[in-house]
Amino acid sequence: MRKFGILFGVLLFSAASGLLAQTDGPMPMKPEMTEIWDPEVRIIAPGATPMDAPSDAIVLFDGENLENEWTNGKGEKPGWKVENGYFTVEKGTGVIKTKRVFDDFQLHIEWRSPEEVVGTSQGRGNSGVFLQGIYEVQILDNHNNRTYRNGQAGSIYKQHAPLVNASKGPGQWQVYDIIYTAPRFNEDDTYFTPPKVTVLHNGVLVQNNAEIRGPTEYIGVPEYSIKEHGPGSIILQDHGNPVSFRNIWIREL
Ligand code: MG
Repeated sequence: MRKFGILFGVLLFSAASGLLAQTDGPMPMKPEMTEIWDPEVRIIAPGATPMDAPSDAIVLFDGENLENEWTNGKGEKPGWKVENGYFTVEKGTGVIKTKRVFDDFQLHIEWRSPEEVVGTSQGRGNSGVFLQGIYEVQILDNHNNRTYRNGQAGSIYKQHAPLVNASKGPGQWQVYDIIYTAPRFNEDDTYFTPPKVTVLHNGVLVQNNAEIRGPTEYIGVPEYSIKEHGPGSIILQDHGNPVSFRNIWIREL
C-alpha cells in the first residue's frame, strides 16, 4: 500500500506542476498586440476616377508639352506630333524616352491604334512600352488580327502571352496599367530576382506578376543579353505605325 501511496503522490505532484506551468506561461494574446499604428500610412488624394493621376503621381504628359518629360533617342526634342491632348508616333523619327529614370513603378498609359486599318499581324498598329528602356510590353492592334501569341497586345514581347485578348477595336482609346518591379542583381550580372510585371489591359488582368527572362529580343534568347542595370527610362517604340498616346502618369514605388 505504501508503494501505491508514493506513486499517487508523484502523480498528484506532476499534475499540480502542470497546472502551475500553465498559469506561469505566456500571457494569452489580445487583439491589440498585433496592431501596428506607427508610422501612419502616408495619405494621398486619389484621382477623380482610376484613370486620373493621384496626388503622388508624376504626370508624364500634360496633353500639350511632350518635351517637358520626353526626348527622342538622342536626348533632343521629340519629333512626334502633338495635337488635341494626345501625341502620335512620327514614322522614322525613332523612339521617345522619359528624361526621368525609374526603378519600381505603377504606370498608367492610354494608347490608340489608327482607325484606318493597315497591315496584318505585327504590321498593324504596332508600338510598345519599354520598361526601364529594355523590357517591352507590346502595343498592337489585335482586334481581328492574329499574330503569334507571345507578340500580341499585352504580351511581354516574345516571353509571355497575355492571359486573354482584351483588345478594343482600331481607333478606340485603350489603357494599360503596368505595375513593375525592377530586377535585383548578383555580382556576376545574373538576376538575383528577375524583373516582374503585372499588366491590366482595359482593366483586365493580362500579366499576373510575370517574371521577365531578360531584355526583349526580336531574335534569340533573352537570357544572354542580361547585364546589370540601374533605373531606366520609359521608352515608347516607333514601329512605323501612327499609334497615339495620352494621359500618362507614373508612381514610383
Ligand atoms: Mg512593339
